[in-house]
Amino acid sequence: MDIVKVFEDGIDILDAERGEWDESKLHISDLGVCSGIPKSDRKCPRALWYRLNGARKEPSNAGKKLMFLQGHRLESIVVEALQRASVICDTQVTAGIASKHEEDMIFGTADLLIHTLNGLLVVDIKTRRGNSFRYSTAVKEAEKMQVLGYAYALSNFHNAYATSGAILEVDREGQNFARIWEFPIGEEEFGKVEMAINEIRSIRHTSTPPDGFDATLIRKENKGDDALKLNIPWQCRYCPYADTVCDYRPDESIREQHGKVVGHIDDEGKRSQNTTGIPIKMLEIE
Ligand code: SF4
Repeated sequence: MDIVKVFEDGIDILDAERGEWDESKLHISDLGVCSGIPKSDRKCPRALWYRLNGARKEPSNAGKKLMFLQGHRLESIVVEALQRASVICDTQVTAGIASKHEEDMIFGTADLLIHTLNGLLVVDIKTRRGNSFRYSTAVKEAEKMQVLGYAYALSNFHNAYATSGAILEVDREGQNFARIWEFPIGEEEFGKVEMAINEIRSIRHTSTPPDGFDATLIRKENKGDDALKLNIPWQCRYCPYADTVCDYRPDESIREQHGKVVGHIDDEGKRSQNTTGIPIKMLEIE
């Protein structure tokens, strides 16, 4: 018996049992495409458009399915542990944003609502690789927007008023355990949520995909000509539409050089030949 193959078949079954996430609908997590969020954190509006329009995407594989299943199981452990430690909370709370047009309804499920002495706290649980604890030093704005979206939906349509939100990060590799980013929620934040709601609804109604993210060359000062290091946006590196329909992401051969020096630029701005053919529009000074 090929145990690995059988394991893979079992993962397919477990993944299928997780239930379909309707890709043709708008979700509160889509609010992370809002143009008010810095590009380094923002989700890709072009990828959202592709998803809503049923574009062909890279099929998932056993490794990715395993990672998602592991994430969901770990989230359940977090909730169970909190409840065992006497935290009063509700989990998997449905929180939608209504509209008189059915296609503009926005769906979501908040991971955790904790009843604290200071009011209601909306928490989204994110499982992370250990390394990400070193690289990120602040709350990710797109994830914060998702939590604000839950709070907005809860207050407007469910009469539940959250006073604060949080991202609870859990290290799935263990060494960092967990950490939390908390933030207050007020009227000002809800103004940003309304802007994001309008943006994702307008993406749903446009007939052509919005702009995606460009690769960039990062300029690094040298004694001689400055070095040019290729940077492919993280959104594109994990995007299921990159190799199927999106013309923004460079070819595989170029992508493999992400993070590497691919050429040089002199004081007069003349680039080495091999970088001029790369579809890069922006230079950033690092
Ligand atoms: S490849 Fe990049 S630009 Fe294209 S849809 Fe994906 S994330 Fe957006």
